[in-house]
Amino acid sequence: QVADTLAKEGCSSPSYDWFQTDSSVTIVIYTKQKDINLDSVIVDHQDDSFRAEILIKDYSYIIHVELSHEIEEDFSVRVVENVGKIEIVLKKKENASWKRLGHPLENHNSLILRKDTGLYYRKCRLISKEGVTHDTKLFCLMLPPSTHLQVPVGQHVYLKLTITGTEIVKPYTPVSDSLLSEFKEPVLLNNKYIYFLIKIYPAGLFTPELDQLQIGDFVSVSNPEGSFKISQFQELEDLFLLAAGTGFTPMVKILNYALTNIPSLRKVKLMFFNKTEDDIIWRSQLEKLAFKDKRFDVEFVLSAPTSEWNGKWGHISPALLSEFLKRSSDKSKVLICICGPTPFTEQGIRLLRDRNFSKEEIHSFTA
Ligand code: FAD
Ligand code: NAD
Repeated sequence: QVADTLAKEGCSSPSYDWFQTDSSVTIVIYTKQKDINLDSVIVDHQDDSFRAEILIKDYSYIIHVELSHEIEEDFSVRVVENVGKIEIVLKKKENASWKRLGHPLENHNSLILRKDTGLYYRKCRLISKEGVTHDTKLFCLMLPPSTHLQVPVGQHVYLKLTITGTEIVKPYTPVSDSLLSEFKEPVLLNNKYIYFLIKIYPAGLFTPELDQLQIGDFVSVSNPEGSFKISQFQELEDLFLLAAGTGFTPMVKILNYALTNIPSLRKVKLMFFNKTEDDIIWRSQLEKLAFKDKRFDVEFVLSAPTSEWNGKWGHISPALLSEFLKRSSDKSKVLICICGPTPFTEQGIRLLRDRNFSKEEIHSFTA
C-alpha cells in the first residue's frame, strides 16, 4: 500500500545492498529520488544497534540491524545527489570477512510514514551554556561521534530529560551559533554541534531542569520534524519575518540561509516583538547584520516598554503590518514567516489573510 501511494507521488520503493573490503563495510541505499541530500540521512550506531533513517517526502526508509561484527565509532556518509544514492562506510574493528550484515531489528528494510516511525533519540553532551538575555541562554550540545544528523533550516527537534523518574519532552528549534559568522554549509563543517536559544521559565516544567545541567551532562535529542521546506525560498524576492519572544529561533537559520543562498532575494525584513528592551535576543547582532547587509532591516516592537522607549510599541496590528509589509515591487515573490506565542501567531495569520496574502505566501511555525 505504501509502495502504491509512493508510486502515485512519482517515487518507487528504496532498496539497499552492502559490500566489504578487508577494512570496511559499505552500505549502499538506492532511494531512486533526486532531492536527497545529507539532511535526508540520519545514522546512529548505539550499543548493538545500527540504524539509518532516510527521509523521503513524508516517508522514512529504515535500515536497522544488529551488526554481525564490531565497528569503529566513526563512519562516513556520502550522497550522490543526482541519482539519490547514499553510501555509509563503516570501519571494521577486525579484518575478518563478514558473512552477513547483521540481524534485522524493528522496521528494518521498510518504508513507513514518518509520523508512524516514533521519535528516535541519541544522548548529546552539554558543551557550553551562555547567558544571552536575563532569562534566555545559548546552549551548545555535541552529537555523539556515532551519529550523523543535520537539522534542516526551519525544523525543530525534541529534547528529553528524565525528571523525578518521568521522561519529559519539549520541542526546540536549533539556531546557528551567531548571526554574523559566515554561513557555512554544514557539510563542510562536518558539524557535530547543535545550538539552541532557550528561555528559562522559573515555574516551568522542563527549562529549570535543563538550566540545572552541568557541562558534560547529557540530554537526549530527537530526529528533526517540521513542515518548512527550503524550496519555499525558490525565486524569492521579499522575505518578511514576524517573530515574538523565542519565536525568533526559527528565523535565525532562515535569515542566515536566505541571505547566503538565494540570489533572487532583494529584501529581508524582521519585525521582532518583545515585552521590554531587556527581552530582545541578539539585538546588537541584528543591528550589526542590518548595517552589514543592506538587504536586511530589523524593527523592534515592545508590548511593555519603559517611558524611555521611542520605538514602535503594542501588539501585532493592522497598522504595524501595513507599514512593514512593503514589497520591493508589485508582483515580487513573497514569503512571510511567523512564529511566537499561539495567540500572536493566530492573530498574525488572520491579519495577513485579511491583507490578501495567500496560504502559500505564509509559513507559520507551530508544534
Ligand atoms: P512550562 O511548564 O510549559 O511553562 C511555561 C510557562 O507557562 C511558565 O511560566 C509556567 O509557569 C506557565 N504555565 C504553565 N502552565 C500554566 C497554566 N496552566 N496556566 C498558566 N501558566 C502556566 N522555546 C525556546 O525557548 N526556544 C526554542 O527554540 C523553542 N522552540 C520551540 C519549537 C516548537 C515547535 C514549539 C512548539 C515550542 C518551542 N519552544 C521553544 C517552547 C518550548 O517547547 C517550551 O514550551 C518552553 O521551553 C517552556 O517549557 P517548560 O516546560 O519549561 O515550561
Ligand atoms: P513573551 O511572553 O515574551 O511575548 C513576546 C511577545 O509576544 C509579546 O511582547 C507580544 O508582542 C506577543 N504576544 C504575547 N502574547 C500575545 C497575545 N496574547 N496576543 C498577541 N501578541 C502576544 O513570549 P515568550 O515567552 O518568548 O514565548 C514565545 C512563544 O513562542 C512560546 O509560546 C513558544 O512555545 C513559541 N515558540 C514556538 C516555536 C515553534 O512553534 N516553532 C518556536 C519557538 C518558540
